[in-house]
Order: sequence, then structure tokens, then C-alpha cells
Amino acid sequence: MKVLIYSHRKNDGEMYDINTPDQESAAYLRLFAEFDNYWSAYDDLEDVEPLTPCEPCSMNLCRHCEKGNCVCESETCKPRAMAARRRAGKEARWKTLVDEARSGNATSAKKLITERSREGYEYEIVREAEVQDSVKELARYSKELKAEAKEKAAEG
Ligand SMILES: [Zn+2]
Ligand SMILES: [Zn+2]
Repeated sequence: MKVLIYSHRKNDGEMYDINTPDQESAAYLRLFAEFDNYWSAYDDLEDVEPLTPCEPCSMNLCRHCEKGNCVCESETCKPRAMAARRRAGKEARWKTLVDEARSGNATSAKKLITERSREGYEYEIVREAEVQDSVKELARYSKELKAEAKEKAAEG
């Protein structure tokens, strides 16, 4: 059977049956609602503002560029600006997907959750799997995840 697994350090692991399109839609919308309402996972997207060159760059003082969120076109700043632009584009797309998912669009919810899961957003990591025994699989996956978290903690 096909399942969607949602498991992290602070829950005991959840598994959703996603064998039919209806089940799949319901599972993603349910998780979306949890991420949105309980973890407030998308609140920071509300504050996304259009990118502009930073103050030093707008005065031609690129060596003092504030980096991160600057889209200055100068030779020194442009490589950084590309990263900032890419991130801004992605955040804008996510914001659209959040709005669509909030109005009940399961396809958008799935797209959003899948993308952010791949990028390792804590408490938003899900995995689809084909399992024989869902109880056994969930236990195995939870153990794996906890070991991983422990390793990360040990690394500091
Ligand atoms: Zn600059
Ligand atoms: Zn700058």
C-alpha cells in the first residue's frame, strides 16, 4: 500500500493511506492545515518584500554591501544577487501555493509540502513510501529519524 509518512522528533510518527487520489488530497490538505495552524510554518512568507539594492550599494559603496537580501547589479554583488533573486522567486511561489492551499487546493498543498520537505524544513518533512506492513515501517522510520537527530545534536 502507498502511504505518506510524517514523523519528526516531537511526534510519534503518523502515516496516511494515500492509495486513491481522494485519500492523497485529504492527507496533504490535513498536513498543510497542521503546518499552517499549529507550526505557523508559513507565517514568515507574509513578510516577504520585493528586493531592492541595499543602502550602501545604492550609494555605490558595494564593499559595504549588506549581502543576503541585496539585488545590486554590480560585478562584485551580482553573484550574491542571483542567490537572493532565486530565493525571492521561490518564496513568492510558495506564498501563492499557501494561498491556494488555504482555499482547499490539494495539488498546491502537495507541491508546497513536497518542495519544502526536500529542503529540510523542520516539522515539514514528509515521505511517500510503498509499504507491506505500515506499523512496522513507521516504527523503522521513526527510529531512523531519531538516530539522525541524535547524530546532528552530537555534532553540535
Ligand atoms: Zn553592490
Ligand atoms: Zn548590496
